[in-house]
Amino acid sequence: MPTCTHLDHVLITQLPDEVAGCEDCLATGGKWLHLRICLTCGHVGCCDSSPNRHATAHSHATSHALVRSLEPGEEWSWCYVDEVALLIEEVAGETRIPPSPLGG
Ligand SMILES: [Zn+2]
Ligand SMILES: [Zn+2]
Ligand SMILES: [Zn+2]
Repeated sequence: MPTCTHLDHVLITQLPDEVAGCEDCLATGGKWLHLRICLTCGHVGCCDSSPNRHATAHSHATSHALVRSLEPGEEWSWCYVDEVALLIEEVAGETRIPPSPLGG
């Protein structure tokens, strides 16, 4: 079983109450499907099913390993380095997100 060795990279343990959408899509006029938040710096990016995959791009650009889903009812996190999904119980809160511009 693969395990994640990056839990000490988790600096965001309280999720924001509300986000406006993918930061990079909002800046460039792009459209996201699902939202992910970086657990190291709080960057909000879009998932790999989105056209621009900003969450993955952020991870590659910064070496920040872990993101958590911001979709309602989803609590899983993903490590890009270990390529493993996990639940991080230290991360609390629930984030209101706008509907996807792609209707997903
Ligand atoms: Zn990891
Ligand atoms: Zn995006
Ligand atoms: Zn980050």
